[in-house]
Amino acid sequence: MDRNIWDEKTPPPDFSEPFAELRKDAMTVELCVYSLQGSKKGLEQVRTVAQDAGRIWCQAGVNVQVVHWEALPPLNIAGPLTLNSTDLARQIPCDSLSDAARSQLMAIGKPNAPAGDPTRLVPVYCIPGNNLQNAPSASGCHRHVNNPPDHMILLTDSADGRVLAHELGHALFTRSAGPSSWMNEDPDPGRNDNFPIHNTNPQNLMYPSVSVNARISPEQVTVAKESRLVTRQPLVYGFREEKRFKLGVNIKTLHVDSVSDENFSDNALESTWTFTVATSKTKESSKVFANSRLTPGEYDLSRDYDFPLLEVESEEDKLTIAVTGWDWDFWSPDDDVPSIRAEWSKDEGLWGSRLGSTSGAPTGQHKEGPVENSEIKYSVTYAIRVDDAPSEHIFREIC
Ligand SMILES: [Zn+2]
Repeated sequence: MDRNIWDEKTPPPDFSEPFAELRKDAMTVELCVYSLQGSKKGLEQVRTVAQDAGRIWCQAGVNVQVVHWEALPPLNIAGPLTLNSTDLARQIPCDSLSDAARSQLMAIGKPNAPAGDPTRLVPVYCIPGNNLQNAPSASGCHRHVNNPPDHMILLTDSADGRVLAHELGHALFTRSAGPSSWMNEDPDPGRNDNFPIHNTNPQNLMYPSVSVNARISPEQVTVAKESRLVTRQPLVYGFREEKRFKLGVNIKTLHVDSVSDENFSDNALESTWTFTVATSKTKESSKVFANSRLTPGEYDLSRDYDFPLLEVESEEDKLTIAVTGWDWDFWSPDDDVPSIRAEWSKDEGLWGSRLGSTSGAPTGQHKEGPVENSEIKYSVTYAIRVDDAPSEHIFREIC
C-alpha cells in the first residue's frame, strides 16, 4: 500500500487541477490493526501509537504503516481464552502462552486485510485490560509460528508507541536459523544471555521496559532491514500542483555614477535604454526608457518598468534580465552603453527570488554593475518575485 489508512487521499480544496502525488520508495513494515471487544483503542489511539512507534523505527530507516484498522465484532473462536471478556489481558501470560491460546488468538486472522502476501503483514490485536498475566507492567506481546513465520502482536489498553515499537522489534528480528527454523534473538551484542530476545542496555529498544529515547543499534538496523516483513513501497507523502511557476521582475533603479559625452557638447547624454526580461522558453518582453538629458543620479523606474507573470516552462528554464542602450551623438556615430546581462536558474534561490543580496537589501532584490565605458558608468537594481507557484502539501515524513 502507498499510505496509512489515515493519510489524505486528495489534496486540499484550494489545489488546482492537475496535481500529482509526491512519492518516495521507502522501506516499510505494514500492520493490520484490530480492536477487540472492550478495547479502549479506537482509530485515533491506534494512529497515535503507530505514529509514535514509527518515529522510533525511523532511526533504522523503516517506515511503520497501518494499512487496515477495524473494531471487531464479538468473536466466536473456541479455545482456552474467553476472547470477548473485558479482562482478556489478564488471561494471557505472554512468556508462557500455551499453544492452544496462541492458536486461538492467531485464528482471528487478518479479516478485510488488503490483498498481498499475508505473511508480510503483521496483525496487531488491541485487547481490553491494562496488564498481561504474571507481569504487572507488561502491556505488549509478540509471538510467531510457522514457516515462513506468521506474526501476532498484542497491545493492551495501556500499551503506547514505545511498546508497539519494542514488539515490532521482536517481529523484525525474526530471521532464519536453518531449514524451516526461525529465531528472534536480539542481534545486538548487548543481548541478555539469560533471555536473549532482550537487551541489557536500558537505552536500547529491546530492553524489557522501553525508555523515552529508545535507540536501535547498527546491528539491529541491519537485521531489521533484511526482515521479510520489510518491503520497498512507493509511499505517498503529499501533493503538488502541476501548474507552472510565474515570475515577476521589477526594474527599480538606474544608478548613473558618471557621464562623459562627445566633445563640443555638455556632459548630459541623449540616451535610450532597453530593459529586456525573458525566460528561455517563453517570449521575451522589453520596455524602453528614453532620457535626453541623462546626468549622474538615481532614476526610479519601479512604477513603469515592471514585468509580471513571466511563465517558466520547466524546472531547467532560466530567467534573463538584460540592459542595453545607446547614446545619440550629433557630431560622431552613436555609442552603445555597456550592457548588463544577468541569468538566474531555479537552483539559485528559486530564480533569485529567495536570495538576499549584499548590503541588506530585501530578499529577491539584486544589483548589477557598475559597468563602464568612456561615456558612462552605471548600475541597475531590480527585484525578482514569484507571482504564482505550484503549491505543495506534505502530510507525512518518510524515513
Ligand atoms: Zn519483549
